[in-house]
Amino acid sequence: MPGSGGATGDSAGAGGKVGLQSLDVVLAFQQATPASLFPPAVSDYYQLDDLLTDEEKALRKKVRGIMEKEIASIMTEYWEKAEFPFHAIPKLASLGLAAGTTKGYGCPGLSLTASAIATAEVARVDASCSTFILVHASLVMPTIALCGSESQKQQYLQSLAQFKTLGCWAMTEPDYGSDASSLRTSASKVPGGWHLNGQKRWIGNSTFADMLIILARNEDTNQLNGFIVKKGASGLKATKIENKIGLRMVQNGDIVLNNVFVPDEDRIPGISSFKDINEVFAMSRVMVAWQPIGISMGVFDMCHRYLKERKQFGAPLAAFQLNQEKLVRMLGNVQAMLLVGRRLCKMYESGKLTPGHSSLGKAWSSRKAREVVSLGRELLGGNGILADFLVAKAFCDLEPIFSYEGTYDINSLVTGREITGIASFKSAVIAKSRL
Ligand SMILES: Cc1cc2nc3c(=O)[nH]c(=O)nc-3n(C[C@H](O)[C@H](O)[C@H](O)COP(=O)(O)OP(=O)(O)OC[C@H]3O[C@@H](n4cnc5c(N)ncnc54)[C@H](O)[C@@H]3O)c2cc1C
Repeated sequence: MPGSGGATGDSAGAGGKVGLQSLDVVLAFQQATPASLFPPAVSDYYQLDDLLTDEEKALRKKVRGIMEKEIASIMTEYWEKAEFPFHAIPKLASLGLAAGTTKGYGCPGLSLTASAIATAEVARVDASCSTFILVHASLVMPTIALCGSESQKQQYLQSLAQFKTLGCWAMTEPDYGSDASSLRTSASKVPGGWHLNGQKRWIGNSTFADMLIILARNEDTNQLNGFIVKKGASGLKATKIENKIGLRMVQNGDIVLNNVFVPDEDRIPGISSFKDINEVFAMSRVMVAWQPIGISMGVFDMCHRYLKERKQFGAPLAAFQLNQEKLVRMLGNVQAMLLVGRRLCKMYESGKLTPGHSSLGKAWSSRKAREVVSLGRELLGGNGILADFLVAKAFCDLEPIFSYEGTYDINSLVTGREITGIASFKSAVIAKSRL
């Protein structure tokens, strides 16, 4: 019986666990290589690499190398423990991605294309790490760069870009998720500053962030305002959300703000309404669209290697027609996603991107990736439910991405509004149910 003590009769191991310590997967299953030794990148079938500049290619190569060497070997352990690998932060900083497209203030000022390609490379190996980076690169940094005061830019941008300061970005509340524009956290004016009161939920990095960007409703104007709350502020409490099935390394928190005092200089002056953060969203949705792309690339690479290594009925799994069809379907999705992702970047860079464009990109790529990861899960059989072989982890990590930064439905409705001129976010009239 599993966990009953095994042949030697041991009943309790280290840490109070019952039974013998499990065999290392490399010994327990020798026909295929786990993801700790990351598979070669083989998903660029249409050679889209040719469309990249030399700088973009160099960045991609560097990010791929660091992720495969430094993160692949530790990711399963930290994902399983649901802990963030703080010791890896210097390595993640060395990728040079935390500043995203922000220019000046010691930031590299990447093109959106470069930033997106690199994000996909991070997500290809580990989606939690890409989320950790994106909170900085596409939410915190642009909010300060586009809406912050000069002294806030001086104080935070370079430090955030190097992960010397860690940030989080808090909009969602327990009662207002998709309907975030109705948020209730309040900001009331007091001498020399503001008092914040309310609750936030799901906020990535919030349990350890040095600075928390809090979006709150100004009690006088009823409009949205933004504030920088510093770690340890009196009345601030951030606790980890436990038992997640995806992005398990990311520390998502529940935040309680109880009369938290924010001095006037820590109010973000450029946020006076929801419209002021739309530019942040347009860019961040494009970046989030590249996470499913990277996840799908990694899952394809993993399946491609696994199917050639693992044998059944005297042949590698890759020899079976049904498996080949699945592999090819995954590959086709990756090509289409890469093309859409690249076009989104180019439209953004030429100033043509609309909210509908970026929402469709995010919604569609996460839906296509769902097909890729579920095919991958099937292809690996039993090992398809083990985090060690990547696809199970990727399968789970995609789910929160499907839902954050606007769920699939909400992003579809943003695009739907743009192409029809009709907003359909409000529910239909509620009738009496027969059930
Ligand atoms: C891992 C993770 C990390 C996150 N990180 C952050 C963060 O750093 N900062 C932050 O502010 N937030 C963050 N979020 C919150 C995230 O943005 C919200 O979860 C998301 O907006 C959805 O809100 P909800 O979970 O309350 O779902 P709900 O709004 O309750 O939606 C539930 C379902 O109803 C559907 N629905 C809701 N309204 C409509 C409508 N009008 N029409 C049609 N369908 C509708 C949705 O599409 C969904 O299927 C994170 C979430 C997760 C899971």
